[in-house]
Amino acid sequence: MPELPEVEALRRALDEPVRAFPVEKAGPAHVATLKTFDPPLSTLEGRRLAGVERRGKRLLLPAEDGELVLLVHLMSAGRLRYLRSGEAGPKKPAFRLLFEAGGQLVLTEGGPKKRAGVWLLTPEAAEAELAHLGPEALGLGAEQLAEILAGQPRRLHSLLRDQRVIAGIGRAWANEILHTAKLSPFAPAQGLAPGQVRTLADAIDSELERGLELRERGAKDAQVYRVHDRLGEPCHVCGTPIARVAFEEHTIYYCPECQTGGRRLTPYWGFKGRGWEDVAMASRRKTRRR
Ligand SMILES: [Zn+2]
Repeated sequence: MPELPEVEALRRALDEPVRAFPVEKAGPAHVATLKTFDPPLSTLEGRRLAGVERRGKRLLLPAEDGELVLLVHLMSAGRLRYLRSGEAGPKKPAFRLLFEAGGQLVLTEGGPKKRAGVWLLTPEAAEAELAHLGPEALGLGAEQLAEILAGQPRRLHSLLRDQRVIAGIGRAWANEILHTAKLSPFAPAQGLAPGQVRTLADAIDSELERGLELRERGAKDAQVYRVHDRLGEPCHVCGTPIARVAFEEHTIYYCPECQTGGRRLTPYWGFKGRGWEDVAMASRRKTRRR
C-alpha cells in the first residue's frame, strides 16, 4: 500500500503535467472505481486542473476554477501514471483523464479486486470526505504527538496506522519508524516517557523524509525498507535477524534486539488492554512473589 512517502513522491511527479492542458475527456472509469455519479465525470471536460495536492494517503486534483475536486485513493494495488502523448497505455484502465495535446492520467489496478477509488466532488464535499483524517504525519512534532498519545491505551503500531489519529502512515512505515525509534510495536501509546515521544516524533519525520527522498529517485521496496518485509535478514543497526509477529490481521516486522529488549513478541490475541509488556511484567511480579 502506498503511504505518505510514496503518495507524496507521486504528487510531486504529477503536479506539473496534469495542469499543462485542460481535460479533453474524463473517463472511462470502472464502475467499482468511480465512487460518485453527481456531478458527472463529464463536467471535468474543458476544465484545467490546478495541480495535485495530497492529504494523508489520498491525492486531490482540484479544478483551476475552484468548482470541482477529483479525489484519488490508490488503496493497496492502485497505480496512477501520467502518459505522454503517444505513449502506449493500458487497454482497460480503471480510470482515465485524457488531456488536450494527448497526455493521459491513467489509473490501473492489478488483481481481480477493485479497491482503489476515484471521487468527483464539490470542494465542500471533498472537505467532508477528508474530515475524519488526523493531522499529517510529516512535521507532526513532539508536542502534538504527545497530545495524541496521551490517554491512548492502544499499541503503538496500531495507533500509528490509524488514519483518524495520524494521516499518512501504514504498516510498512510504522515498522520502519518504530525500529528507528527503538520502540516496541506493542508498547501502549500512553505509556511513553517524554523523551520517547520526542524520539518517536523525530523518527516519524526522518523515516518519512528518507522514504520520500528514495521514492522520488524511483527506489523500489527492497531499497527503501530496512525492516518491513525483511524476515530473517540482519538488522541494519545490530545484525540480529529481523523477526515478525502477527497482530490482529497484520504482520509486524521488528528487531528483537533494538526494539524489545531481546524478547520475541508473541502474537497478539486481543485480550483487552494487555500485551506482551503487561504479561512480562505480570510474570516478573509472580516470580518475585515466589
Ligand atoms: Zn537491531
